[in-house]
Amino acid sequence: VKTIGVLTSGGDAPGMNAAIRAVVRTAIHKGLVVKGIMRGYAGLLQEEIVDMTSTSVSDIIHRGGTILYTARCQEFTTAAGQQKGAEICKKHNIDGMVVIGGDGSFRGAGKLSALGINTIGLPGTIDLDIACTDYTIGFDTAVNTAMEAIDKVRDTSTSHERCSIIEVMGRNAGYIALWCGFANGAEDILLPERYDGDEQALINRIIENRKRGKKHHIIINAEGIGHSSSMAKRIEAATGIETRATILGHMQRGGAPTCKDRVYASIMGARAVELLCEGKSNRVVGYKHGEFVDFDIQEALAMTKDIPEDQYQISKMLVR
Ligand code: ADP
Repeated sequence: VKTIGVLTSGGDAPGMNAAIRAVVRTAIHKGLVVKGIMRGYAGLLQEEIVDMTSTSVSDIIHRGGTILYTARCQEFTTAAGQQKGAEICKKHNIDGMVVIGGDGSFRGAGKLSALGINTIGLPGTIDLDIACTDYTIGFDTAVNTAMEAIDKVRDTSTSHERCSIIEVMGRNAGYIALWCGFANGAEDILLPERYDGDEQALINRIIENRKRGKKHHIIINAEGIGHSSSMAKRIEAATGIETRATILGHMQRGGAPTCKDRVYASIMGARAVELLCEGKSNRVVGYKHGEFVDFDIQEALAMTKDIPEDQYQISKMLVR
């Protein structure tokens, strides 16, 4: 490869900038030309392509968001859109591409690879919902942001002797909820992978805890379950305990990346460029069993993962 492109796609995540910086600087170190593609696949199809230099990525390692912006793009899910994208890459001499995003973005990356553009995916999502990896860029920052916010809600919840339902992000994955369950000492954690919808059992636990003298009851509710506000109303009606819902929302996607997100995103960014230089394509970089590794994109997309059952059981035991 001589010229590589880099884009961020799908939901943004803190640490994407550190990954972009590592891609650009590693590529320049190896004598490659680097182009930044703005707004993911949407920007590719609009030819929003800019030259990247070492200074284009100055002063961004500590910033949340993505300097390349991100987007979702329906047109790129069609064969015609993918063909157009590959042709635009060729027109700009882009023969290698780094795509930072989630599973949807990797599907697009697989298509680009099949059309002759050597493409490598980097896992960027706060949700940790990518099966081939134990780490995704942004999760560590998001879970720390959520933890700090929940601590604050907990203070006021205790003062007012309330029950609080706090909804965290994660789409259909409960990783942020599970981690906050541990880190915040929540009384209940409702995970999409496990919650059986038994609200009466939840209500019984709240009443029982209040009888035992607990001053608050923190319920961490994962995004995939949702309905936090209506759940709060039903719990208040059934228990007589004042119950409030707090939806943390997009604050979990922003902010300065943690040290771990900066370091891992940097290593993964450099790894992606090394793979391209080795002539590899259609790979996604992951972190498994303490090592940075890479997988075939289709194999990675076919993998599944679940909340570790032992961790879930421990989290439940520690709040009783
Ligand atoms: P994420 O990458 O975070 O999972 P999305 O699922 O929204 O986010 O995917 C991001 C973008 O990737 C989509 O808007 C689309 O342009 C592209 N994409 C998703 N699925 C496919 C597919 N099957 N083929 C080609 N491109 C896809």
